[in-house]
Amino acid sequence: MSASKIDILIIGGGTAGWLAAGILAAELKKNSSGQITLVESPNISTIGVGEGTWPTMRDTLRKIGVSEIDFLVECDASYKQGTQFVNWKDNTESDNYYHPFAVPNGYFDANLYAYWNEKQKNIDFASAFATQPKVCHAHKAPKQLSTPEFAAVNNYGYHLDAGKFSAFLKKHCVEKLGVKYIADTITDIISDQEDYIHAVQTTQNGQLKADLFIDCSGTHGVLIKQHFKIPFIDKSDVLFNDRAIAVQVGYPNSTYPIESATISTAQKSGWIWDIGLSSRRGIGFVYSSQHTNQQAAEETLLNYLLKSGSEKNIITEPRTIKILPGFHQQFWHKNCVAIGMSAGFIEPLEASALVLVELAAGMIREELPTTRETMAIVAKRFNNTFLYRWERIIDFLKLHYILSQRRDSDYWIDQQDKSHQSDQLQELLKLWEFRSPSKNDFPQIQEIFPSASYQYILYGMGYKTTSKNILNDKKSLATAEKYFFGNRKLTELHLSGLPTNRELLQKLKERYSCNIK
Ligand SMILES: Cc1cc2nc3c(=O)[nH]c(=O)nc-3n(C[C@H](O)[C@H](O)[C@H](O)COP(=O)(O)OP(=O)(O)OC[C@H]3O[C@@H](n4cnc5c(N)ncnc54)[C@H](O)[C@@H]3O)c2cc1C
Repeated sequence: MSASKIDILIIGGGTAGWLAAGILAAELKKNSSGQITLVESPNISTIGVGEGTWPTMRDTLRKIGVSEIDFLVECDASYKQGTQFVNWKDNTESDNYYHPFAVPNGYFDANLYAYWNEKQKNIDFASAFATQPKVCHAHKAPKQLSTPEFAAVNNYGYHLDAGKFSAFLKKHCVEKLGVKYIADTITDIISDQEDYIHAVQTTQNGQLKADLFIDCSGTHGVLIKQHFKIPFIDKSDVLFNDRAIAVQVGYPNSTYPIESATISTAQKSGWIWDIGLSSRRGIGFVYSSQHTNQQAAEETLLNYLLKSGSEKNIITEPRTIKILPGFHQQFWHKNCVAIGMSAGFIEPLEASALVLVELAAGMIREELPTTRETMAIVAKRFNNTFLYRWERIIDFLKLHYILSQRRDSDYWIDQQDKSHQSDQLQELLKLWEFRSPSKNDFPQIQEIFPSASYQYILYGMGYKTTSKNILNDKKSLATAEKYFFGNRKLTELHLSGLPTNRELLQKLKERYSCNIK
């Protein structure tokens, strides 16, 4: 390692490995400041799931230097504008609400909740101040054909095919960003006297040396778990779901709507995700093995497919994946950083895994320590930042369960046990009895979930805040009213002016075929 150059070895070629490679290589290439090599075992497959991203992915892809149209077509991707939660509140006929990606209109100017609570409760909170619930309901895209790549009319992320996404990133990283690719299995680790990693031993290519080793080996945790034995913080007592059964399902015909949001439907012992890609749907049941068994879980998934008539269109055999909810006590140790599933994993209720990969690789890119002294400082900060983030994500996911009024199974009853809810979350819930979530509740600059997201979940789930009477405060009333009616108008505009997801994706595909960007 020299003061200005750093060679990086990434272990693992799943989404985490290739995203990290792209994010770092784009930076290193700009400054000619080191070599990135990615080694991936040809004998150990990637997890191959993970189909929902956050809007952050747009910026990530733009910075890596890919074309959005190439990405959309080659990864069978579509637009995601948030999540629709069905049957989470009380499991009645009308039980559904959205957590859209857009912050509510007027969020920073007005007491929206107080106004909505007193004047507009006939419409759901999210639809009162964001256009996306209605836009998603109509399967509309978040932009028009003329909107530039990565720009948006409505904030959006993606639904994508995880396997195709890794292959797409690999091609770009190797051909355009100078990442060296080695297909080989790591069998041993060679340390120096200070216990830093000197090299990794491979079966075919001898020893591979680097200054910084990024462990993207998924649940294998070749460096962080197997070599360094960093303790794992098990969170299965908080987030019960420890299994997923995934299937791919075809569309019944070529005009079938492509959903603009992930649909998450609560069940007696878990929830089902339903994701619309451009070419097919990805559907899966995430459940708690303490509360149901494999056979009953498969039946739950089949019932869901039967209800929508999709069982005839199943493309793949159901695949069961074990989840150990939790994360490592340290992510960065010596000259090794764990990113992706090797760092930890929890159920994909808010699709928060890939955004953590983006943030982790982004922080390494910004800090890029080139001496051991600075590396130790950066490692400490990195660990503090990401420990905080994991805890906040777990709180946010747990909130979805705590707020539910469902008591139709032990699963939902057990969610109410306060001993499995963090002190911070319990404190905040107390505060929110008297005022809405605000930016003061989440002081970090890059909070994973801003207070606006908490408002969407709280009020979507029917939580009651005793707010001050806005009707007596003419100015506040007028401000909130302005945003409410402004949003109504904007919603009409979006509904009439935006194409459907399918229409837009089809047009982009035609452009791609003609090689027009
Ligand atoms: C059911 C489910 C649903 C999910 N949904 C979402 C979602 O909607 N949104 C989201 O953001 N995330 C989601 N995720 C998480 C997401 O899939 C992962 O975070 C993402 O795919 C990254 O995985 P990875 O690259 O860390 O690991 P993997 O894909 O497992 O890759 C591991 C890599 O390490 C290599 N490797 C392992 N051992 C060795 C060795 N000894 N030598 C060399 N190479 C080795 C393997 O060959 C492989 O290339 C979901 C996960 C699951 C389980």
